[in-house]
Amino acid sequence: MTYETTYDHWIGGQSVAGTSERVGDVYDPALGTPQKGVRLASVEDVDAAVQAARTAFTTWSETSVTARSRVMFAFRQLLVEREEELAQVISAEHGKTLDDARGEVVRGREVVEFACGIPQLLKGEYNDQVSGSVDSYSFRQPLGVVAGITPFNFPIMVPLWMHPVAIATGNTFVLKPSERVPGASAMVARLYQEAGLPDGVFNVVHGDKVAVDALLDHADVDGVSFVGSTPIAKYVHERASASGKRVQALGGAKNHAVVMPDADLDFAADHIVAAGYGSAGQRCMAISAVVAVGPAADTLVDKIRERTHEIKVGVGTDPDAGMGPVVTKASRDRIVDYIGQGESAGAKVVVDGRDLVVEDHEEGFFVGPTLIDHVTTDMSVYTDEIFGPVLAVLRVDSLDEALDLINSNPYGNGTAVFTSSGEVARTFQRRVQVGMIGINVPVPVPMAFHSFGGWKDSLFGDHHVHGPEGIRFYTRAKVVTARWPHVSEESLAALHFPTA
Ligand code: NAD
Repeated sequence: MTYETTYDHWIGGQSVAGTSERVGDVYDPALGTPQKGVRLASVEDVDAAVQAARTAFTTWSETSVTARSRVMFAFRQLLVEREEELAQVISAEHGKTLDDARGEVVRGREVVEFACGIPQLLKGEYNDQVSGSVDSYSFRQPLGVVAGITPFNFPIMVPLWMHPVAIATGNTFVLKPSERVPGASAMVARLYQEAGLPDGVFNVVHGDKVAVDALLDHADVDGVSFVGSTPIAKYVHERASASGKRVQALGGAKNHAVVMPDADLDFAADHIVAAGYGSAGQRCMAISAVVAVGPAADTLVDKIRERTHEIKVGVGTDPDAGMGPVVTKASRDRIVDYIGQGESAGAKVVVDGRDLVVEDHEEGFFVGPTLIDHVTTDMSVYTDEIFGPVLAVLRVDSLDEALDLINSNPYGNGTAVFTSSGEVARTFQRRVQVGMIGINVPVPVPMAFHSFGGWKDSLFGDHHVHGPEGIRFYTRAKVVTARWPHVSEESLAALHFPTA
């Protein structure tokens, strides 16, 4: 098939078709048909990108920290000026509403704003006179070439969690974005060039497993940041670690919202609907399990049900649409199948989005908001990450039971509690085994100056992304113990172990 647009790789500051004959389809999920093509890199293409990054590292790592910061300021300005264009590309390839796409551009840009402060963030530590005429100090240096491998659901924000921090700390970068949504990364590469980033510091290889494996095995790649589903995160962590790389691999999620009997149920229902169905449930921090505590469960389910009827499902560019399609046909079929499995297992489908059709978009990958009540922990609709607009309601009698339920789940990305009690909130935040917690905040995505990351099967590796942990991930520490002696008889070296 020939397309009007086929995305090339971006290597050493230019568009490169590469050596592979393989081209993937990029769909418009609202139409259900491929609109563009994307090159799928060969091992040789990946090697060319890594070599370009390796060459650029020699000079970029020697570039002053103020010059690196200035590039980030310029890049940030371009992200402001081109926000609408970026949102259009994201919405067209992913399917999310334009408002939602603008939101991810803004949240991603906040990481660039954080990276603008790199001179301050890279300040080391200094101890004067740790021994007679001896000073001790530490500083951090970049790893070298780092790779970013990212999922489809945030085409610009998730890569922005990585490359501004990696580049500002002096690394060079090879991004392998999701092959389903390549457009935003192709634009970002040009914006970096416009911002004055030297060629080769930021490279993009499009592709699939072939490209990912080539990056994981490449001897010249020093670090890997991955975000995607849990099985692939685990695989990436194991394979890249085996070749001696530093790895952070963020995986999937099952995020619970606990609603206590003392919560404002209207407030909780409003926010659960937004957190469960926004972006058609395709957010790693989407709420997918509602844990209703005590006798208010029926009222809560009613309130959520009423609100689902107010959601207009439509094309991402429709300003009235609250929710667009899901990303692929396979995704749509999988979601529909899970709803059926829940029903067969005895759960009650209160709102059913399986048969939704959007006028003039009959082939689009649409699923309507779905609410399933009386779900139990053994049902696949609960155990598996569905990644679609499906809320499962589980009922328990106490906060202890809610905590046990969440802590028994293998995932630990995000969670929220709705309550008016400070004591409940404090108990929850201390006992829950989850990395990101919301108190009356359903999607507790940390700001750029904190770090983002889950626990358990939601993250493999030691570092969360962006914020202080991002700086640590992309740098290595050195500690220097220094003496500038006045040369005299007494300062001649002794053979005993040095003590202060
Ligand atoms: P995915 O795991 O299918 O793909 C992620 C990346 O891995 C893509 O670049 C893809 O090309 C590559 N990949 C896919 N299969 C591979 C294989 N077999 N070998 C090597 N590489 C492979 O994820 P997705 O469907 O694009 O994104 C959705 C998933 O990402 C969900 O599970 C979601 O929870 C997760 N996610 C997690 C976070 C987080 O912060 N924890 C954020 C966003 C998305």
